[in-house]
Amino acid sequence: VREYVRVYIKRNGLLTLSIMAVITGCVLGFMLRGLTLSTQAKIYFSFPGELLMRMLKMLILPLITSSLMSGLSSMESKACCRIGVLTVTYYLWTTFIAVVVGILLVLIIKPGYGTDMDRNRLAVGQVITSADALLDLVRNMIPSNLMEATFQQYQTDIIPIIKTPVNTERPNFVYVMPDEDHPKGRIVQLELTPPPDIEYKTRPGSSQQMNVLGIVIFSATMGLLLGKMGDRGTPLVNVCQCINECVMKIINAAVWYFPFGIMFLVAGKILDMKDPSILGKKLGWYAVTVLLGLFVHGLILLPLFYFILTRKNPFTYIRGLLQAMVIALATSSSSATLPITMKCLLENCRVDRQIARFVLPVGATINMDGTALYEAVAAIFIAQVNEYELDFGQLVTISITATAASIGAAGIPQAGLVTMVIVLTSVGLPPDDITLIVAIDWILDRFRTMINVLGDALAAGIIGHLCQKDFPPDRALNFEQSLPI
Ligand code: ASP
Repeated sequence: VREYVRVYIKRNGLLTLSIMAVITGCVLGFMLRGLTLSTQAKIYFSFPGELLMRMLKMLILPLITSSLMSGLSSMESKACCRIGVLTVTYYLWTTFIAVVVGILLVLIIKPGYGTDMDRNRLAVGQVITSADALLDLVRNMIPSNLMEATFQQYQTDIIPIIKTPVNTERPNFVYVMPDEDHPKGRIVQLELTPPPDIEYKTRPGSSQQMNVLGIVIFSATMGLLLGKMGDRGTPLVNVCQCINECVMKIINAAVWYFPFGIMFLVAGKILDMKDPSILGKKLGWYAVTVLLGLFVHGLILLPLFYFILTRKNPFTYIRGLLQAMVIALATSSSSATLPITMKCLLENCRVDRQIARFVLPVGATINMDGTALYEAVAAIFIAQVNEYELDFGQLVTISITATAASIGAAGIPQAGLVTMVIVLTSVGLPPDDITLIVAIDWILDRFRTMINVLGDALAAGIIGHLCQKDFPPDRALNFEQSLPI
């Protein structure tokens, strides 16, 4: 028994601790909701979670640059081309399938029909246009300044003022979220048009987030060129290899802090959560539709593709990814989860290092099956609430724009909510109606991020299998052997 426990702890200890941390965090958060904590107390309470986020974000930049530059530099250009085309085709295909699943479910379940959602209660001002969001995507691909790209990405913000009812008995009073002038938020009387003292505006480039897409494109180009330079490029390739190994060592050490951080991250979020009673029946069905879609796509279709293409058991593979999925659930960010996904792929799933180094960073930026599915469901839900009949052509438009919008979304919390404007405006739905689903978005975001991460990781397994002949098995490095800690 002792031996069994020892092996169990060695293999699953961290995962078990992380799952327990999520559960404890939920319990703690709900218990503390009863107390009225001061803002200062909340800051102290969220501090361990904040440290976890900072650690993960700190690792993204060195991990992506070193992975792509060293990974691509050592590939044959023909193999690079083959893997690149396969990866992008697979990503587009699975994202499109996710959208179709979402559309079918929302058309069958029809969560938006009914009478319990009074649209006036959630009226809000102008947000952004699809042109803004598309321009942001292209801007991000070409950062004007690489240094700036490491801390700034263009993401046209939804203005921070969002109204949700505070009192369902007297629904004409709404709570306006905090902004610069009103740090504590405030209660205003609802009008159909926004109160004149609230300014609604578009704020391009205001998010202080790393431009991962720009960095991926630059590093991939550098990696390809380094490969072509032969011996002259070797010193830089060696530097990248060293950085990569160091980052992986840091991750291996830092993971033991994660369960502690996760607990406070989850508890802090629940503490801040708005009163769930504002969510009506429609919103509840909408959430069920999204979650069901994510389940069908992530745990039935993607594993099926994996099985068909590799003839291996997908659930054994997914088991190796659980740690990354828990981190995705806790952080809502596929970019922040990237270091852990990389670790899981190399250590538990034994994916070829070069494949993982290319497929994962690209996937974390452009492959978001969960986000695409949710965007399609949300757009059709909003149409249903507005009693707006969508014809077949409009459904096709939604499927294409939802795929594009998910590619444009950054791997950060609630990025999909912003790019959804592209989908809404493409079929003539009011972008303001994003506010109908804002109240529940933070929780759905966590689940769609899990599926985004799962999609990237399964892709790496499939591409690794299909490109085996480009990488004979003996070339695949054993992670633990190569990185003794
Ligand atoms: N939070 C998601 C991610 O990081 C993006 C989104 O759907 O908002 O993958």
